Amino acid sequence: MSIRFENGIVVTLGRNNKVLWNSSVVVDGENITAVGEAGEMARLYPGAERVDCTGKIILPGFICTHHHFYSTMARGMAIPGEPASNFVEILERLWWKLDMALSDEDITLSAQIPLIECIRNGTTTVIDHHASPASRAGSLDLIEKAVRQAGIRASLCYEVSDRNTPAGGVDENARFIKKIGKGDGQIAAMMGLHASFTLSDKTLEKCVGIARDAGVGCHVHVAEDAADREDSLKKYGLPTVNRLNKIGAAGVKSLFIHCVHIDEAEMDVISATKTAVVHNPESNMNNAVGVTKILDLIKKGVLVGLGTDGMSSDMLAQMRCAYLLHRLANHDPRVAFMEAPQMLLQNNADICERQFGIRLGEIGQGRPADLAILDYQPPTPLNEANFLGHLIFGLVDAPVDTTVCRGKILMKNKKILALDEPRIAARSRELAQQMWKRI
Ligand SMILES: [Zn+2]
Repeated sequence: MSIRFENGIVVTLGRNNKVLWNSSVVVDGENITAVGEAGEMARLYPGAERVDCTGKIILPGFICTHHHFYSTMARGMAIPGEPASNFVEILERLWWKLDMALSDEDITLSAQIPLIECIRNGTTTVIDHHASPASRAGSLDLIEKAVRQAGIRASLCYEVSDRNTPAGGVDENARFIKKIGKGDGQIAAMMGLHASFTLSDKTLEKCVGIARDAGVGCHVHVAEDAADREDSLKKYGLPTVNRLNKIGAAGVKSLFIHCVHIDEAEMDVISATKTAVVHNPESNMNNAVGVTKILDLIKKGVLVGLGTDGMSSDMLAQMRCAYLLHRLANHDPRVAFMEAPQMLLQNNADICERQFGIRLGEIGQGRPADLAILDYQPPTPLNEANFLGHLIFGLVDAPVDTTVCRGKILMKNKKILALDEPRIAARSRELAQQMWKRI
């Protein structure tokens, strides 16, 4: 079935970004058949179903390279006792209690809610990191099912750690990695690891061995807080990145999340091993852990992507947060204008190419049909030269009207088609109330 998304402003992105006014994107099956001037596309593809995009801008679907679906039910939850005063206390008092309380149905609903929010925000690909120590076995299957039902793409993993039981989660990852194999372009698998300070050498070695044999990367939090660095120096005599690299967790398919507390020599290790880093500015600000030196990492040739760390599924907002944060942190109004959009629009696509083996983040013939269509009537001229100005100061607040992934319309006229949002939200409220009592 062919669909013509017509009469919009198409922004192709990719290495040779084009801004095409009054244009159409023709989709057939899971891929894009043609992109061009609206009249010409109507003549060439007269039989296609039409979706009018007048007054709208058509972009490639957005990508989030670090998410935690399982964090959903923390929203509005009261945490007993004194407020956590540092990062380790945040983990102990909130996240390690919440993940322990999740049941199988909680896991499904906790995934469905952010999946709906992804669709609402035009986010069509997510790399997720899951934890549910009391309901581990089969948990990734539950999330996979929810992702397939929602219709977006996701790379999934379970966060292995020794904090509950030694090597907890290794079996779930190994099973799921084997099941997914090379993947089908919709679901991919990684070896998930919590963080250096909750992993013994023995567990790390086991995980790295499984990942290496399967040809997948490791997805691990790295030096999010100074405590992770201090732990690694104290127990192993090495800073976090060096310890992880020594055991073999770095590499072209691996994701080192955060990297807030790393030194220059560690940056060189990340660069030399071609490991990708994922920056999560809202989360780092929320946990008050510090500011990742993304400008230095990018200068060293490191591929730095952008994630939300479970804070939200809105990638444009995350991009603007990165833009603002690094201007302020560097006391320099000349920086981050290029780097913040680059992380979202180009680097996240590069990271996904390593995971899924397909080129996302670009509208072009033969490319996957993943689209975010936003209401946007540019109040000033819009072209290739000034697109980033529109992105940072205009599109970031433009509502997403239609979301397409793998050629399927998942939201149209702001109505989610793939999932029953009111029913899912109502059930989630019931389950959250019960789950909170178990904490
Ligand atoms: Zn995280």
